Amino acid sequence: MQSLVYVGKFLGRHGTLQNPAIRRIACLSALSDTHQMLQKTCRDFVNAEIVPKAAKHDREHLYPEDQLKKMGELGLMSITTPEEYGGTGLDYLAYSIAMEEISRGCASCGVIMSVNNSLFLGPILAYGTQKQKDFWLKPYTSGDKVGFFALSEPGNGSDAGAASTTATEKSDRYILNGTKMWITSGFEAGAGILFATTDKSLKHKGISAFIVPKGLKGFTLGKKEDKLGIRASSTCQLIFEDCEIPKENILGKSGYGFKIAMQSLDAGRIGIASQALGIAQASLELATNYAQNRNSFGKPIAKLQIIQQKLADMALRVESSRLLVWRTAWLKDNGKSYTKEAAMAKVAASEAATFCSHQCIQVLGGMGYVSDMAAERYYRDARITEIYEGTSEIQRLVIAGQVLKELAV
Ligand SMILES: Cc1cc2nc3c(=O)[nH]c(=O)nc-3n(C[C@H](O)[C@H](O)[C@H](O)COP(=O)(O)OP(=O)(O)OC[C@H]3O[C@@H](n4cnc5c(N)ncnc54)[C@H](O)[C@@H]3O)c2cc1C
Repeated sequence: MQSLVYVGKFLGRHGTLQNPAIRRIACLSALSDTHQMLQKTCRDFVNAEIVPKAAKHDREHLYPEDQLKKMGELGLMSITTPEEYGGTGLDYLAYSIAMEEISRGCASCGVIMSVNNSLFLGPILAYGTQKQKDFWLKPYTSGDKVGFFALSEPGNGSDAGAASTTATEKSDRYILNGTKMWITSGFEAGAGILFATTDKSLKHKGISAFIVPKGLKGFTLGKKEDKLGIRASSTCQLIFEDCEIPKENILGKSGYGFKIAMQSLDAGRIGIASQALGIAQASLELATNYAQNRNSFGKPIAKLQIIQQKLADMALRVESSRLLVWRTAWLKDNGKSYTKEAAMAKVAASEAATFCSHQCIQVLGGMGYVSDMAAERYYRDARITEIYEGTSEIQRLVIAGQVLKELAV
């Protein structure tokens, strides 16, 4: 399998699509040749390398280490990171397409990929000094190491500005104290972005971001969560007790942490919306396939209008949310504001995932309810997409806030 860097370069030179399988996908979308080739490359990779292992990893709560390494070799762990830092150098539309395809096979691989790309590498690229970029980016582009993003705490999730983890200045260091909760890849990550308050009286304006490696004295791992879904990814607490970190590890200026968190989450929502899209697409494919092969009352259930209506409603939600997600990626790639669109894309795609995985179980009947088929995993995995990186309630607040500004009388 060629690296995506190669795919991008090859298509830049040749531009045309010779492969009939790729042409078939091309008919379905208005994507560029590069994006169609990427989609096809990811789809083939997922079918060969991710799908066969996804159920076992989910059942046994196994971290998909080998799959992540292969994703890294392909360039998927650093899609939007420039080549000079070891990344793939593609755009956010490419990222969205790849995230959908990976999550179609395994939503756990999807979330690990998303956090590494948009919540770890993304903020370092956007706010890091040259020295930080040179030091931190490369080791996290290949899939050998992954990063975390630690914003949420036991006492606050949606209200991120109320962070109570503290960073106290002491000569050439900061002393970290507090507990972070729900941290994706917390167990396996080599380093991450930590948000802590340097001045509580300033509320969210007192929060700063830090690049924090594992192995520091006073930095330990807490409880590993036993989750409903995305069970091949780890989620755990990070505990800081008088943990000293050099001042040079601050990311951006002191007090800019909340802004860094919110801007990173805007981009992260493109990733999570794409993850949800992958789960919705997988549910649609499974339900359609099953309906054509399952006979009831002497004919395939796909011939029944009530089943066709379910397939139609699923396809409608998949296609419409995909348009929102891709448009959001396009806005970001073209330097336009996209906060409202990212929130809309996340709500639409995550609710599509919940709807489609629910309908998929219904179409499969009893087979939808047992772990022999992937439908029940899709159903469990879909649920988190309405919660993390901002719940659907918070997304609706963001959307309404923007609409009220745009349409102010
Ligand atoms: C599997 C998993 C992985 C995660 N990974 C990460 C990670 O890597 N890094 C990280 O920092 N966090 C992570 N999170 C945390 C996640 O982002 C939070 O759980 C989420 O933001 C919600 O916060 P909360 O759980 O504290 O719920 P709360 O904020 O307590 O919300 C509870 C309910 O109240 C609603 N609510 C709260 N405030 C409002 C409001 N103002 N208006 C309307 N409704 C409101 C919410 O929508 C929700 O329905 C993860 C969570 C899970 C479960």
